[in-house]
Amino acid sequence: YLELQGIRKTFGGSIVLDNVDLSIQEGELVTLLGPSGCGKSTLLRCIAGLTEPDGGRILLGRKDIASLPPRNREVGMVFQSYALFPNLTVYGNIEYGLKMRGVDKAERQRRCEELLALVDLEEKRGAYPQQLSGGQQQRVALARSLAVQPKVLLLDEPLSALDAKIRKNLRSEIRDIQKKLNMTTIFVTHDQEEALTLSDRICIMNNGHIVQDGTPETLYSRPRTEFVARFMGSYN
Ligand code: ATP
Ligand code: MG
Repeated sequence: YLELQGIRKTFGGSIVLDNVDLSIQEGELVTLLGPSGCGKSTLLRCIAGLTEPDGGRILLGRKDIASLPPRNREVGMVFQSYALFPNLTVYGNIEYGLKMRGVDKAERQRRCEELLALVDLEEKRGAYPQQLSGGQQQRVALARSLAVQPKVLLLDEPLSALDAKIRKNLRSEIRDIQKKLNMTTIFVTHDQEEALTLSDRICIMNNGHIVQDGTPETLYSRPRTEFVARFMGSYN
């Protein structure tokens, strides 16, 4: 459904993505797990159109989206820092992308209500981002990215700025929403427990490569390299 073929990216002579191939089924949640600096965010940014790769193809369905501007890619992205519009309410943040796309008011209202219910923020619709907890802000960010009905959802460490308890709750909420919408999702993290509990499939990344790709069980019980074993916590 989403297929990356030979994605390459260098920054100032250093290779950040080295011919990355990855294919993801419709409705699948794939986690990219790897150490800081291995290229996870860069890969998501290439898919979203926020960074231009030096080479490679990005196929969504049968369409190559690599040359489309971000807003025409049907890809939604949530960042580690919530990046909400501070001067807009919860409702306004969720509505924003729909307004930009010229969706009429009745339809905007219908979708915003649906999304507020989905992320359980109906009572907070009139609040501003700074009046919300981190977990609530991240739920707004999620609703905002889903508002425009993307075909693929990219989540770049959406939980890493939250405390442990909120992180766990939101983790299972994200999984429930993802399943309910059958949303094709790439989830980036460097937390192996998060990866093990959330994923249909995990890709371990290191130095701009995917070093192993498999189900959580396979990666945990049959790591192909010591690096994978260490990252999966197969032994300590
Ligand atoms: P983290 O887990 O810390 O978020 P990451 O796996 O997401 O790390 P990236 O943000 O993709 O890593 O960065 C990969 C490499 O590319 C890093 O060495 C980073 O310094 C470099 N890099 C990323 N963006 C740029 C940029 N705009 N200009 C120059 N170098 C960059
Ligand atoms: Mg990153």
